[in-house]
Amino acid sequence: MDDLLIRNATLLDGSGAEPVVGDLAVRAGRIHSIGASLPVTARRVIDAEGLALMPGIIDSHTHFDAQITWDPYVRPSPALGVTTAVIGNCGFTIAPCRPQDREQTMRNLTQVEGMSLEVLRQGIRWGFETFAEYLAQLRAGGSAVNLAAYVGHSSVRTWVLGDDASKREATADEISQMAAIVREAMAAGAVGLASSTSPAHNGEGGVPMPSRLASDAEHLALVQAMGQAGGGVYMVTKGGQMPVALLEDMSARSGRPVMIAALLHNPMNPQAVFKDLDAITAANQRGRTLIGQVSCCPLTLDFTLASPYPVEGLVSWKPALGVHGEALKAVLADTAFRNAVRAELAAPAVFRLFNAEWDKVHVVEVAEARHRSLEQRSIAEIAAARGHDPLDVMLDLAVAEDLRTTFVAQLLNSDEAAVGKMLNHPHSIVSLSDAGAHLTFFSDAGFGLHLLGHWVRERGAMRLPEAVRRLTSQSALLFGMPRRGLLREGYAADLLLFDPATVGRGPKRRVHDLPGGAPRLTTDALGVHGVWVNGTQVADGNGLLGNAPLAGELMTRFAA
Ligand SMILES: [Zn+2]
Repeated sequence: MDDLLIRNATLLDGSGAEPVVGDLAVRAGRIHSIGASLPVTARRVIDAEGLALMPGIIDSHTHFDAQITWDPYVRPSPALGVTTAVIGNCGFTIAPCRPQDREQTMRNLTQVEGMSLEVLRQGIRWGFETFAEYLAQLRAGGSAVNLAAYVGHSSVRTWVLGDDASKREATADEISQMAAIVREAMAAGAVGLASSTSPAHNGEGGVPMPSRLASDAEHLALVQAMGQAGGGVYMVTKGGQMPVALLEDMSARSGRPVMIAALLHNPMNPQAVFKDLDAITAANQRGRTLIGQVSCCPLTLDFTLASPYPVEGLVSWKPALGVHGEALKAVLADTAFRNAVRAELAAPAVFRLFNAEWDKVHVVEVAEARHRSLEQRSIAEIAAARGHDPLDVMLDLAVAEDLRTTFVAQLLNSDEAAVGKMLNHPHSIVSLSDAGAHLTFFSDAGFGLHLLGHWVRERGAMRLPEAVRRLTSQSALLFGMPRRGLLREGYAADLLLFDPATVGRGPKRRVHDLPGGAPRLTTDALGVHGVWVNGTQVADGNGLLGNAPLAGELMTRFAA
């Protein structure tokens, strides 16, 4: 007998094919049959007339590596239609990790994950040292979604170089030790190798993430080690200094696909991202598989000056990194510091997260009642009204409020004409949710619902079957995930039932459910009627089913 029958649904099968109305039956976690009018004998029958049924969303860019050790439901993703998460992006992993490196690994993560050291200390369950042991812990702990895990360059580097990992290049001997660990991790079931060369990626106190210290030779050696057994995807969040040509070379020498993040549109340098995409196209024409990770969400960050992620990548911000409280306030009030920041912002840059677009920086929430009239106003507007410099306005307000003022900055990817082109590019993948990271800054875990609602329905920038393909089978094929990403008989019953007329993501809101009650940003689903992972329902119209069995599969075997 079938466990579940979904009748009269508009079936979007994930291949990009036109939808058909039909029934889909699930048995023992798999899609058992698909047809015009299947016998109504299942244990549970849902009449889905007017609703659409698609394969569950595969989120190819998450950072759940730490969170999953205390939250196997990887909130908020399952309620937002995600049934498979790829973890370890950018190489921000917690395995392999020796006990003596745990503290430094958490310190590295605080900044990039947007979680305090206290949250990570209370939250992470350290029952492993090697990557294989980490996978064993994940398997034993279970998860609400299917998982594929990258082995992370920064963790591998810390394992071999210890405290020197964020300080210097590696020796030839150290590179071969790292390569051996990457080979072991691939044998244990890693989906690939992930790294970052982005100047925006810093640990506590502005210390660069370890992979940023790697030479080109080190990157190449590790990618070749990854590909040696004939599998693996190499993913890298590249800094402006890392040319696509170098990544094409790595793909050629390893014979493996390369995923390139983070291709975001920068209004101050609007052609840069298209130059990268052109180079990616050219590489594909030469027979390589290069894919650009693009985002369908504007990069909008909430921040306080106590931990201002948008500006921390500025060279001139260095004096403010690693200092706290009164000392930090003194730096922020210093005229020489402010002048240096202004000078840097006035100079052109290839890639810069924050570009002094003060009309796109708003005061969200003040700490003191006397400043309430400033809420919801842009820094540009306040500065113009007062005849002051905008940087001074923002920093003076923050310092006066003990750095408790919350600002929001719309940084990148807000030019919808440009972003629409990027989403439709033949060699891009809709990704970059960063779910599990930057938790106090933004939450794009609902990116898939945003693609379906905003880009398909509201803007008409993409057709629904193509959007579904880009959220499902495109990733499954790239990563070689067996029997996922399509509605096909015998495939895993990873399903998203939704209403195309209302699907989307709700407004962001702050919740306090991290270890120790620390806050994070989240969004709710709109128009979602049900989410199933391997046939087990994990969410309904009201969100996550908190007591759902953990039915996700930890994937360790991938088709080449
Ligand atoms: Zn990332």
